[in-house]
This record gives sequence, C-alpha cells and structure tokens, in this order.
Amino acid sequence: MTQFIKFLSLFLLAFSMNAFAQDKQCMEVSLTGTHGGPDVYKGLAGAGTLVKVGTINNGCSDIFLQFDAGRGTALRLAELDVHPNMLNAVFLTHLHSDHTVGLIDIAQTRWHSFSKKLDLVCSEDVEASGVFSRVMSCEQFATHIADAALYAGEITQRISESKKRNKNGPNDLINFMPVALSNDPKVVWQSGEVIVSAIASSHIPGNLSYRVDSPAGSVVIGGDAGNEKLTPPRGSSTSKNVELLSKNADILVHSTIHPYIGPTYGSTFPAPIFYRQSTSTDLGALAKRANVSQLMLTHLVPAIGAEKLGPHTVPGGALSEKDYLKSTRESGYKGKIYVGKDLMTVRLLQ
Ligand SMILES: [Zn+2]
Repeated sequence: MTQFIKFLSLFLLAFSMNAFAQDKQCMEVSLTGTHGGPDVYKGLAGAGTLVKVGTINNGCSDIFLQFDAGRGTALRLAELDVHPNMLNAVFLTHLHSDHTVGLIDIAQTRWHSFSKKLDLVCSEDVEASGVFSRVMSCEQFATHIADAALYAGEITQRISESKKRNKNGPNDLINFMPVALSNDPKVVWQSGEVIVSAIASSHIPGNLSYRVDSPAGSVVIGGDAGNEKLTPPRGSSTSKNVELLSKNADILVHSTIHPYIGPTYGSTFPAPIFYRQSTSTDLGALAKRANVSQLMLTHLVPAIGAEKLGPHTVPGGALSEKDYLKSTRESGYKGKIYVGKDLMTVRLLQ
C-alpha cells in the first residue's frame, strides 16, 4: 500500500509538472518569405515574418503578428496552417511593394471570409524631399487597398450575393494605426504581455523597424534598414537605431545584401540601392555588439543559386548558403546564424 501511495504521488507530481510545462509561454518566428526585391526567383515568396505567441499547450497560437507581407504571404501562411483571418495585426516596415503586395491579397481574403477588423501598424504620412517629392502614405495604401477590385466591379458583385459582407469593401476592415517616427523605441501595439515597439530606421522615408517582447523572449524585425549615412566612407552599413532596438534580443530577423553584389567587387548592381541595405558581414557585427543570440538572414540579395539579379550578373557566380554564412562569420559573431529559407521557423520558450 505504501509503495502504491509513493507511486501515485510520483505520478501526480510528474503529471502536474508536465501540465505546468505545457502552460509555459512560447514564441515562434517563421519566415513567410525570403526573396529580396520586387523581381521573382523560383518559388520564393516576398519578404515577411510571422510571430506567434501562446503556450506550448496551444502550439504558441494565442496571438498572430505578421511583419511585412510580400508576394505569396497568404500561401505561406496557409502552409503554416494560419488563415489570414487569424492575424491580429500586420506591421509594415516600409512601402516597397516586395513588402506590401501580399497585404492586398490578405485584406481581400479577410473581407471575403467575413473577418473582423485587422490592425495595420505602419508609418504616419511622411513628406519625402530631395531626390523625389511625394508623400509616402501607408494610410493611402490602406484606403485604396482594394481599388482594382472595386473599379473592376468585383466588390459590388460579391456584396450583391451576400448581405453579410461589409458594404464598404476590404479597406473598411483595416484599423489603421499610424506610428510617429522616433529615434527612441516606442510601444506601438500591445496585447497582455506581448508588446511591440517601433523605431525609425533608414532605407526609404517612413521606414520602421520593430521589436516584439513576450514572456517567451524577444525578436527584432529590422526590415530593409541600412546605415543612416547612405554612402561610404562610413563605419558600417547597418542602422544605429536597429542596433539600439536589438540590445540583448533573442532573435534578429534582418534583410541582407551580400558584399559581392556591391561596387567593391565590380558588380553593375546600382550602388545607391546596394548602399541602402545592410551587408551580411555588418549584420553579424551588429548582432555581436548588441548581444543578439540568434541572427536570421532574410530578403537575401542575391537569392541563393541566382546567377543574375535582374540584368546584373553576380560576380563570381551564384551564391550558396555557405557564402552567406562565411561572410556573416567574418564579423566574429559567435551566435546562431540562420540563412533564411521560406517557412524556416525558430521557437523560443519561457
Ligand atoms: Zn525596401
């Protein structure tokens, strides 16, 4: 009998410990697209990162945050069993189409599926000056997100079939949350203990980088950020503000350009476009300085295996995963490096 009680209490202890472990918070970071730039290559989806937060019990599935939404994002999400309706918020780093066209699809799919409103976090309007004069406006992007379908007559046709459908169209299901540009991290979205902060960063006007903090850990999404000084001589190609935001982060997800496609190696790739991205070597150095545990390289320019970048030949031939690892390790960074592939996922535990 005593033996039985001993066995039973051990069993109950193990059971409650397991239940406790299942209740622990977790965060999953998935690359929904790793292609860099508006062109196409093989089946790579456009830039995007899904951050899920929840408990081990529910597969980290309480909150779904999408950072950027390039071409094919909805398809990649579907491969992760995430329907667009499940997203709590979309955060845009900037208004380049390779980071935004997927949102048009997501917005229309949500409207078609009778979704509730989606938080859209992105920059306030920014008056661009200098080389071009135009207001960069995420609000206008959101307002006109379904204009092609509206002008084609599709929105009206579908409304005529279902009285349940929002009569104002997909744009009415977007809750636009503008972010004022700041050189200090500011909280821009929160749900319980999941906090998203943003900081202004350099690439194009209105550029933002984000950080998610949760009980399970932290992840920074740098986007296409580059150095505030756009041309050499300069100490680094990376952004000072992204470095500030990345301090002691568990994961840094960042767009990457390989040094070989720069002017130093004789590439014909336009220098101004090269200079507004961060190189893999400098990202390693940033991760080292900021004490980041894991670095996920994404938006790879050029894509692995591509001999050309548009009309520009990659000097020395197509790059491999090893080439990206080597150029990043040259910085002396000792943390874990992931050379991004679509659907690559890293989990953090509390
Ligand atoms: Zn860009």
